[in-house]
Amino acid sequence: MSSLLTVGSVAFDAIETPFGKTDKIVGGAATYISISASYFAKDQKIVSVVGDDFPTKTIEFLQDKGVNTDGLQIKEGEKSFFWSGKYHNDMNSRDTLVTELNVLEKFDPVIPASYQGIDYLMLGNLAPTVQRQVIERLDVRPKLIALDTMNFWMDIMMDELKKTLKLVDVLIINDEEARQLSGEYSLRVAAKKIISMGPKYLIIKKGEHGALLFHGENIFFAPALPLEVVFDPTGAGDTFAGGFIGYLAKTDDVSFENMKRAIIAGSAMASFCVEKFGTESIEYLNDTDIYNRMLEFVDLVDFNLERKL
Ligand code: AMP
Repeated sequence: MSSLLTVGSVAFDAIETPFGKTDKIVGGAATYISISASYFAKDQKIVSVVGDDFPTKTIEFLQDKGVNTDGLQIKEGEKSFFWSGKYHNDMNSRDTLVTELNVLEKFDPVIPASYQGIDYLMLGNLAPTVQRQVIERLDVRPKLIALDTMNFWMDIMMDELKKTLKLVDVLIINDEEARQLSGEYSLRVAAKKIISMGPKYLIIKKGEHGALLFHGENIFFAPALPLEVVFDPTGAGDTFAGGFIGYLAKTDDVSFENMKRAIIAGSAMASFCVEKFGTESIEYLNDTDIYNRMLEFVDLVDFNLERKL
């Protein structure tokens, strides 16, 4: 069975949406990724850092989901990463209100010896310097390296990000970030430019408008499910990434055709994520729930062009 290493923030979030507000709840890119991936990848490991304010029961929950947490550092006397965001009425865009790096500021991503030789690597949202350090610290290059990032890092570390991009296979970003990274408005032109920066595959997420996969001359589009309830989009991007990489690790097939299915797996997981605040709606799913959601995507875009015009 293929193994998956997830690296990224494990954090506290405070979220405000038009439907309500939370105090500090558990969040973080790696939290969402690893919960989502756990439904597919059964041999999963995590590298991250928290302060001693982080709830032990969340770490135990990840362990119950089959995630090896030996690489999750707990820093005594320090505070966990904290992020706060507020969504606009359209729920597709948001403002970051607070980013307190805390333990992430000096994060040294130590890779436990037992993690060496992993097959798939998912680099969640983190400083691009740290993401690169992880790649450099692996004795053997994984079969596939995917990386997620955000505008925050493009604003303050664009050159470092570009150096890291040279080392990855799949880049997962949203449309706004693709435009910022490439300086191009057309996503097709942006994709060409970004692919020339290193990643062979590019996924551009478009929130409630689905996701695009680019590879060479090939493009695949997956819609997002039109949902009745969208409560909190926080973590949807990470949950998508977790479903995507988890599916690839489970099937151990990195062909373009299989990546299409992986994107549907990611989109299905993200559709659950937005239905409640935080990680709540992805904590206790089962294979049938997920498979049925994936089938809804198949139905949504299934049509026949019966005759020539
Ligand atoms: P998403 O909604 O998928 O973009 O991800 C939201 C998650 O990313 C939240 O749970 C945050 O804790 C985390 N996050 C936000 N900003 C950063 C950052 N600068 N570095 C690492 N993680 C972050």
